[in-house]
Amino acid sequence: MDFASASADAPAAPLLRDRVDIPARFKWNLHHIFADWAEWEAAYRELESLIGAYAALQGTLGKGADHLLTAMRLSDEIGQLTYKVWYFASLMYDEDQRDNAVNGRRQQVQILFAKANQASAWFNPELLRVPLSQVQAWMADDADLGVYRFAIEDLYRQQEHVLDDKGERLLSLSSRFSSSPGDSYAALSTADLKHPTIRLSTGPDITLTYGQYRAILATNRNQADRAAAFEAYHKLYTANVNTYASLYNGVLQRDWFHAQSRDYASTLDAALHGNNIPTSVVENLISATKAGVEPLRRYHRLRKRALGLDQYHTYDSAIPLVEYDRKYPYEQVLDWLPSSVAPLGPDYQRQLRDVLFGDWIDVYENPGKRSGAYSAPVYGVHPYMLLNYNDTLDAVFTLSHEMGHSMHTLLSNAHQPFVYSAYTIFVAEVPSTLSEALFLEFMLERATDPRERIVLLQHAIDGIVGTFYTQVLFADYELQAHRLVETGQPITADTLGDIYFNLLQAYYGDALDYDQPSRVTWARIPHFYSTPYYVYQYATCFASSAQLMHQLTNGPDADRAAAIDRYLTLLKSGGSDHPMPLLQRAGVDLSKPETVRAVVDQLDALVTKLDAAVANLR
Ligand SMILES: [Zn+2]
Repeated sequence: MDFASASADAPAAPLLRDRVDIPARFKWNLHHIFADWAEWEAAYRELESLIGAYAALQGTLGKGADHLLTAMRLSDEIGQLTYKVWYFASLMYDEDQRDNAVNGRRQQVQILFAKANQASAWFNPELLRVPLSQVQAWMADDADLGVYRFAIEDLYRQQEHVLDDKGERLLSLSSRFSSSPGDSYAALSTADLKHPTIRLSTGPDITLTYGQYRAILATNRNQADRAAAFEAYHKLYTANVNTYASLYNGVLQRDWFHAQSRDYASTLDAALHGNNIPTSVVENLISATKAGVEPLRRYHRLRKRALGLDQYHTYDSAIPLVEYDRKYPYEQVLDWLPSSVAPLGPDYQRQLRDVLFGDWIDVYENPGKRSGAYSAPVYGVHPYMLLNYNDTLDAVFTLSHEMGHSMHTLLSNAHQPFVYSAYTIFVAEVPSTLSEALFLEFMLERATDPRERIVLLQHAIDGIVGTFYTQVLFADYELQAHRLVETGQPITADTLGDIYFNLLQAYYGDALDYDQPSRVTWARIPHFYSTPYYVYQYATCFASSAQLMHQLTNGPDADRAAAIDRYLTLLKSGGSDHPMPLLQRAGVDLSKPETVRAVVDQLDALVTKLDAAVANLR
């Protein structure tokens, strides 16, 4: 049978209600932060005066341990109040972004932030003039000051690559133009981009924006239409490819200039120093992933077969294998979510119910509401969650993802002093992806409709391909391009195109039929220009979560209990150490190939299940 035509009726558009018509139990209650705007105003004024008091401490740090402790504690007090003052205005604004009065208050907080930054700029240079050994002696004698040990020692560690005043002044002067390659890319790829018009088999002319292009690849079942969209879209980049190459060369040269100025061995060393990550983590990630591409290829060969295609191109990789549009009403999911985390134990389930039923979540869309989804860590209150829940399977997984973030916040805030309550990006996406993996297991065990099974498996597999394999390929690309510059080799559209095209072939092998326009795909990726060496963190988080998932759900009871304990300790640890030791204590070592192989094994198992589910449908 032809999977594609096994389609049910089109889903009804979700009902858009005015906010007042949505029952209170589906809205967050921001009065947990402040009773009203008058209370907010009072807190705002208090924050202003605390910021003034902090500025007045300038010049005192060298006088002794109590002076340093006073400054650290005042900084904490300011930070805690800042969370409440900022989020009350900012979350209120996201309820309805058309509200100018609330927007005004939100901007008022942003102005205060700028003042706070100025008022505290003296702290780091002043502290760093006190020898570390002196500060360490103070911390050894004073337990209250000892709480800040990791934060203070890390400040000194960061200092290793700071230059003298003259050097820092030169670097700060250069910062004015170091953003210009990224800004030029943004102008060329958005403001100055002339979107083409194309006509598909389905009818009228379409203006091919990036959103339209993605939509065609994900919904248009006519391969010739997808090919036409792919050709037309890539022409936009082919037409300016030398300009894109020149801009990207600017990014690479800037990164190498900064790395050399600060005496790093490479651009990668410079990028990883902040989180104290060894470069072997990225190198291991890339080599172990390249050795584990077989399940990726197997998935695409399976898709080619299931879709009945003679040739299979990159533009065929997003179309769903089956049409399926079951609705997942929010109130039904409320029962599923706590059950899905049963492997993490009853305490975790109880706390998750607190998040679900505490009026902490803003569930449905309403006119003016901010789009997307997030979890907001309001220290001293509790995490809040914004959703735009529309009863689709994607919405359920988004809820499960954000729940992982909220639980992380809840546990970290409950167990850490304020100074370590926030966690880094490097760890943040571990609980969110793990939460999704547990939810998938739960759903797969209950799915009775074979098409639902296929949709669930494809959702999980596409998640691994998108957040793991694609991001590692991107990291690989960035590393190779930076290394060309580091070894004094020229950067041209051809060399960049070769790197990208060779990578595609190294990852996808014989599972794809290749098209020349894919040589310019690199030119479109915004992260390459705006945040170099960033995307690998999605992949390391994913690998960590895959290995934790394996440990939590396999082996004898005692081993699983120990794994649960280690995982909950990770969540409770917040930002109290660098990401590598935090993850190592949880049982994840990102410098070892086994960690990456956990993702490869996870994908392999899912593709095997998908293969069976597809065969079952015939
Ligand atoms: Zn996330």
